Amino acid sequence: MNGYHGRFLKVDLSELKTKDMPLFEDDLRKFIGGATLAAKLIYDHVEKDMDPLGPESPLVFSTGPFTGTSIPMVSRYAVSGISPLTGYWGEATSGGEFPFRLKGSGYDGIFITGRADHPVYLYIDNGSVQIKDASHLWGKDIYETQKIIKGVLEKSGLSVACIGTAGERQIRYAGIMNDKGRAAGRCGLGALMGSKNLKAVAVAGKRKPDLTNRKKVKELAKEVLAAISGSFGAVALREYGTLFYMDFGMSLGDAPAKYFSKSVFPAEKVTGQALRQAYTVENYACPGCPIGCGREVKNFRKDLDSVDGPEFETANALGPLCMNIDLDSIIRANHLCNAHGLDTISAGVSIAYAMYLYENGVLTRDEAGMEIKWGDGNTVVKLVEMIINQEGIGKLLSQGTLRMAQELGRDVGEAAQVKGLEIPMHDCRAFHGLAVSYATGPRGACHLKGDYYNVDIGIAVPEFNIMPGNRLSSENKAENAAKYQSLRDLYDALTLCKFAPFSVTQISQLLNSITGWDVSPADLLVAGDRSINIKRAISNKLGLTREEDRLPKICLKALKEGSTAGKVPDMGLLLKDYYDFRQWDWETGKPSKEKLIELGLNPVAEDLYPK
Ligand code: SF4
Repeated sequence: MNGYHGRFLKVDLSELKTKDMPLFEDDLRKFIGGATLAAKLIYDHVEKDMDPLGPESPLVFSTGPFTGTSIPMVSRYAVSGISPLTGYWGEATSGGEFPFRLKGSGYDGIFITGRADHPVYLYIDNGSVQIKDASHLWGKDIYETQKIIKGVLEKSGLSVACIGTAGERQIRYAGIMNDKGRAAGRCGLGALMGSKNLKAVAVAGKRKPDLTNRKKVKELAKEVLAAISGSFGAVALREYGTLFYMDFGMSLGDAPAKYFSKSVFPAEKVTGQALRQAYTVENYACPGCPIGCGREVKNFRKDLDSVDGPEFETANALGPLCMNIDLDSIIRANHLCNAHGLDTISAGVSIAYAMYLYENGVLTRDEAGMEIKWGDGNTVVKLVEMIINQEGIGKLLSQGTLRMAQELGRDVGEAAQVKGLEIPMHDCRAFHGLAVSYATGPRGACHLKGDYYNVDIGIAVPEFNIMPGNRLSSENKAENAAKYQSLRDLYDALTLCKFAPFSVTQISQLLNSITGWDVSPADLLVAGDRSINIKRAISNKLGLTREEDRLPKICLKALKEGSTAGKVPDMGLLLKDYYDFRQWDWETGKPSKEKLIELGLNPVAEDLYPK
């Protein structure tokens, strides 16, 4: 099993016991690693009506065959489980040093169930495991937590992933943070970790699995490095971080404003360039990445020497979506979310929804206890604090937009979410391929597997015959969007950064050189399809039907401005074509029995279609 250690660490927190859990080559060939392998491991533990925050609900940290190798842009890990926010399949990924160290610890991943009767953290070092008391860490923010653990363990090369107070309080969109402000932010997996009384996972070690053809891996790594150096995206990301997209995105109608009711705003105030003009900004990188898209704002305030710079998603959600173009408040709100471990996208969308409700007289000043006006940066910061502290109106906002709408008796079509996961900061009216991906994504509205905007602005995938087309057309779009979704799902199995400009052929060659397998680009597409389908089957087991493959009305209303004015995706056509291509059942929303068997998911087929 080259490329793998061949084992996970299995942890039962109720019993405070750990043991090795062997992996089988047949499963690795089928499910590869990362979030996809996690889905395979989680599948058998899922039962209808399962409480995502119950002790039996699994939480999985996983790496893939690329993690820890000399290939650039592969230091990533996935966290998976049943989402406390959606109640369906949930996953989130993050970069930084943690993934590299997790693989170095001698395990491919960690499978956690149970609930400790007091706060604990896990410490794994070169194959040895300890469950340690974390009572003194409960209540600490993520920066303090990481610092204290590193100070106590005094181990060089130690990396920590942890929750903040948002995870401890089981806020449904709490994330897991590693290496300072790196975030596995989405789906509320920090709340799942908090429900287990697990404050942190600390990992160290330099163990590396064998590679089948080390020389070839090195050669290919050199080749892809050259591709990165010659890529426009790499230069833009290095110079300005993901924020480089703000003004370009706005010109495409792809950066939503005023709770998805506008697409034109003074973008120049909140770009990566504006950040650099206003502050001293340094960039940082995941190990082995020549780009370094991370931002650090230096000398931000007297009491805050250095803070994480906001990513595009964060800056848009806490900024223009709330009609806020005050960078200082965006940085402060981002810092609070990071320090306490809160998903900035769900937080920003929930705050923007509150502003919309306030404008429409649904939330009054008396009910809210404050004014919640568009464009007020201080209000954005205050509401983030109130969400974290579960104070006043913050308690309602901490539920996410779907529960907010339900609690207030509103039409759920005005809650900007899919399956409960808040819509990210790409507008489905700007790219119709994105629209169908949002509606059908394995974790709900997901810009990382639904990033069809990359294709329609010029990035082709010739191996799968995916070519750029008319971004505002729904005709003949769904099949390619589905294929692209499968490919991007595979990145989180391998694990590979979504910004890596590698061809599918290079990805298959890298995988073969590491593992000794003989995987073709076409086989990779099958693996991606398998991944999408097993995650779908988990959600089906938890009650998901086709009814929930839909976009909210608020995001489908034609805009009167910008480059998408008057245009909306044809969701009926897109979904029909998507279902036909995927061979999903139009009545039940399940993958067909034939499709599951074709993908080698026979036990899943038997489970979803009992005799
Ligand atoms: S581009 Fe950014 S997220 Fe991706 S590997 Fe490089 S530093 Fe990490």
